[in-house]
Amino acid sequence: MATYDLIVIGSGPAGEKGAAQAAYFGKRVAMVERTAPLLGGACTNTGTLPSKTLRETALAITGMTSRGLEEAVLSLPRPFAAATLMHRERRVVGSETARLTRNMERHRIPLIPGTARFTGPHTIEIAETGQKLDADVFLIAVGSRPHRPDWIPFNEPEIYDSDEILKLAMIPDSLIVLGSGVIASEYACIFAALGVKVTLMDSRDRLLGFLDVELGDRFAAELQRLGLSLRLGDNPVKCTIDAQTRVCSVTTEKGFTETGAAVLAAAGRSGNASGLGLEALGVVPDKRGNLAVNEHFQTELPHIYAAGDVIGFPGLASTSMEQGRVAMCHAFHLDYKTRVNPMFPYGIYTIPELSYVGLNEQELQKKGIDYVAGRASMQENARAEIIGAESGFLKLLFSPADKKLLGIHAMGASVTELIHIGQMALLQGATIDLFIDAVFNYPTLSELYKYAAYDGLGALAHKQVSQADASRGGVGG
Ligand SMILES: Cc1cc2nc3c(=O)[nH]c(=O)nc-3n(C[C@H](O)[C@H](O)[C@H](O)COP(=O)(O)OP(=O)(O)OC[C@H]3O[C@@H](n4cnc5c(N)ncnc54)[C@H](O)[C@@H]3O)c2cc1C
Repeated sequence: MATYDLIVIGSGPAGEKGAAQAAYFGKRVAMVERTAPLLGGACTNTGTLPSKTLRETALAITGMTSRGLEEAVLSLPRPFAAATLMHRERRVVGSETARLTRNMERHRIPLIPGTARFTGPHTIEIAETGQKLDADVFLIAVGSRPHRPDWIPFNEPEIYDSDEILKLAMIPDSLIVLGSGVIASEYACIFAALGVKVTLMDSRDRLLGFLDVELGDRFAAELQRLGLSLRLGDNPVKCTIDAQTRVCSVTTEKGFTETGAAVLAAAGRSGNASGLGLEALGVVPDKRGNLAVNEHFQTELPHIYAAGDVIGFPGLASTSMEQGRVAMCHAFHLDYKTRVNPMFPYGIYTIPELSYVGLNEQELQKKGIDYVAGRASMQENARAEIIGAESGFLKLLFSPADKKLLGIHAMGASVTELIHIGQMALLQGATIDLFIDAVFNYPTLSELYKYAAYDGLGALAHKQVSQADASRGGVGG
């Protein structure tokens, strides 16, 4: 039986970074992956990178900017094969798999192909080969899979979950997207950008309901420009396929029926912890297949760590990587990375992009924290004009007492990159004066920070005047 300091189960972002962290500091590490030699999990193979690459391809081939979208989309030949769109996706996935393999080799981490299952607190067995492996520490990084509600006939070829959608042969004329979260919104935008008639249906009243309300409202307005139909606040309950015409129908609780050539169900994800044999060790996954962990990412058994999607929220590649690293720093007493920084950004690759970090207006109101907002519009920005991406804005929320930043919310081209400027300022406890003071390259989208800060100063002055008036008994008092 091979004995290791650490066995990592799963080669996605959490597993890769956790394994490399421990191996870098001289630990004997092995990685088990059931899809080997394919590495990288949902991030590389079915989720993050493929969807982002398809998005860029869609934007490039449609020449899509906020202006001229309609003509570009209408001029596409139809129907067209999905494989044409996936050319770059295959290259990106191939390169990333090669990078992951090199990273494992560089850190001398043997890759053990197969499906791992615990047979004891320190032992796993590989289902396909019967090989047994022993370790002091384990990192469970087995990820998640699409949740599949019973009422959706996933056995029908026209029905896809979010792991399968990129396997479709032809781009359909119309698509019904079930869901209102990030994955549903991203794919709905990509297909709409490709000229597909998209209807997004969900029981919730708002798309991406966790967003700052202003950001959410302005995004919803942009979706109308994309021609995307929203059917929200009405629970889809039935999905059928006509045997002759192969038309898909989705019916809601209120009796509305929408038809389409295909259905994408993006109804959340379930953790992959069930089936690992953990129950016998007293580590019981919850109903959604997720594992509970403490702040060090330890399960009930302190030498068995878990990180990434399998521990649930927030279920991002970015945070999964950090969780893997932090977990292994704790396991091997590497005394320099003790937590996942709670001030992490969200990037949502819709069309247009959305991103935010820190608190939003509704959260500030709920917490009773006084704030002022400063906004800058892409319409007033020269770089946005040059690249034809004038729809969008950046909003800074800050404290009126000391001008300290509280949150940044943005929509538009490259905001998933732009947000990091604000994130760094937030992490340093900066005030909006930082943006007033700094010189930015011109023309750049980054300048939005300066003009949002100026706008914020104006809003602050206005607030102070109103407050002074009120304390004198109102205007004219
Ligand atoms: C469509 C889509 C788009 C996304 N976009 C983004 C984005 O833009 N930004 C972002 O940050 N995140 C995004 N995500 C989320 C991101 O992909 C996940 O949060 C991330 O992949 C989770 O990493 P992980 O290491 O926990 O698991 P995974 O990446 O799922 O990897 C788990 C690995 O474990 C292996 N495994 C499972 N069970 C076993 C077993 N018993 N034995 C051996 N191996 C096993 C699996 O084969 C898999 O390779 C997206 C997800 C989807 C689906």
